[in-house]
Amino acid sequence: MAGIAVERLVKRYGPTQVVHGIDLDVQDGEFVVFVGPSGCGKSTTLRMIAGLEEIDGGEIRIGGRVVNRLEPKDRNIAMVFQNYAIYPHMSVGENIAFGLYTSKLGKAEKRAKVEEAARILGLEDLLERRPSALSGGQRQRVAIGRAMVRDPAAFLFDEPLSNLDAQLRAQMRLEIKRLHQRLGATIVYVTHDQVEAMTMADRIVVMREGRILQVGSPMELYERP
Ligand code: ADP
Ligand code: ADP
Repeated sequence: MAGIAVERLVKRYGPTQVVHGIDLDVQDGEFVVFVGPSGCGKSTTLRMIAGLEEIDGGEIRIGGRVVNRLEPKDRNIAMVFQNYAIYPHMSVGENIAFGLYTSKLGKAEKRAKVEEAARILGLEDLLERRPSALSGGQRQRVAIGRAMVRDPAAFLFDEPLSNLDAQLRAQMRLEIKRLHQRLGATIVYVTHDQVEAMTMADRIVVMREGRILQVGSPMELYERP
């Protein structure tokens, strides 16, 4: 795993600036949650870190290396979206293994990685199933598994739970938190849900209109007298 540093990060869409020079250091192994109302620039910031959006100013470093001009696949980062792209014609195992399709590992090593991820995620008995036979939470875990097998330097989550019902959301919050602890993973997680931010984050970044309004632990931000 590795830390992520963002300096004076800027994004414009045409004449409109939507990210106004953000500075942030995410420590190695830290779980940072971006929270704020829809349209404040959370997703754009995450997508710039992932390399899915070009930046219009500033610098992004992952594990100390400047990645501004690197393709997403060369940033050693794994992205998990709300509309997790699970392939219906592939089994759970094949879906997870798809994360390794560019990898140079041998067949046996790939298999071992898929099985390890499945074990950590509680999917070991479902590897032969089709996604249509899974619950929403299980499908989400498959998407996480596909990200995990690549041993990324960090995980980026963009509203991963917003399509799930309340009960499943609560369960997945705990599971993602446990995954973080277990892997010592660096995580940047975007949500508009304050409960998610409070229950999962080591540090919360509150965004408003393309700027960071506040940064602090859940205690510092929400439990002040
Ligand atoms: P979010 O859940 O991040 O608020 P939206 O529903 O606003 O996302 O947007 C969905 C998709 O449309 C995203 O890929 C986003 O980049 C794009 N998008 C959002 N706003 C605009 C816009 N004003 N013009 C063009 N594309 C947009
Ligand atoms: P959030 O994730 O906080 O909901 P976004 O990062 O999706 O916010 O969007 C920030 C702003 O940028 C919004 O005003 C949105 O409409 C705009 N935006 C996002 N994507 C695009 C796009 N592809 N083209 C134009 N405007 C966009």
